[in-house]
This record gives sequence, C-alpha cells and structure tokens, in this order.
Amino acid sequence: MAKYELKFDKNACQSNFVCTAIDPDHFATADDGKAELIDADEEDGIQVVEIGEDEKSTAKQAADGCPMMAIELIDESGETLAP
Ligand code: SF4
Repeated sequence: MAKYELKFDKNACQSNFVCTAIDPDHFATADDGKAELIDADEEDGIQVVEIGEDEKSTAKQAADGCPMMAIELIDESGETLAP
C-alpha cells in the first residue's frame, strides 16, 4: 500500500483552522492556539506523520485549503502532491 507523508510547519500557521474543519482526523487545536498534526513527530516546529492511501484525499484537501501553505502532502518518491 502506498504511503504518503503529511508535513505541517507550525511556524507558518496562522490559526484559522481550515485544516481542522477539513481533516479532523489529522489536525487539532494545540495548547498554543495553533494547529497541530495529531500523533506527529516534531522537530523545530515541523511535524510529520505517515499516512495511507485511504487518508490521502482528505489530507490533500487540507493541504490545498491552508491559506498559509503550511501543510504539504508528499508521496513516496518525495514529490509534493499538494499544495
Ligand atoms: S489551515 Fe493552515 S494556517 Fe490555518 S490552522 Fe490549519 S495549518 Fe494553520
């Protein structure tokens, strides 16, 4: 099964929560008032989770919907699928 990487840059987040509305399985509101990627590994404000084919469509909508382009969907080859 194909795996994808969902990547979120907390530093770019402007807390308008398009992402949590579109993809609540992956995005929630963090204690600092910004979004957070649920169950992600984090380094320097960059959060990353691996997702499967069944989660790709909704994650892509979240990445395309973020006005700050803080969310990126990447395929196994490293190609950016969204935004
Ligand atoms: S849509 Fe983008 S800018 Fe808005 S809360 Fe989500 S990650 Fe942050």
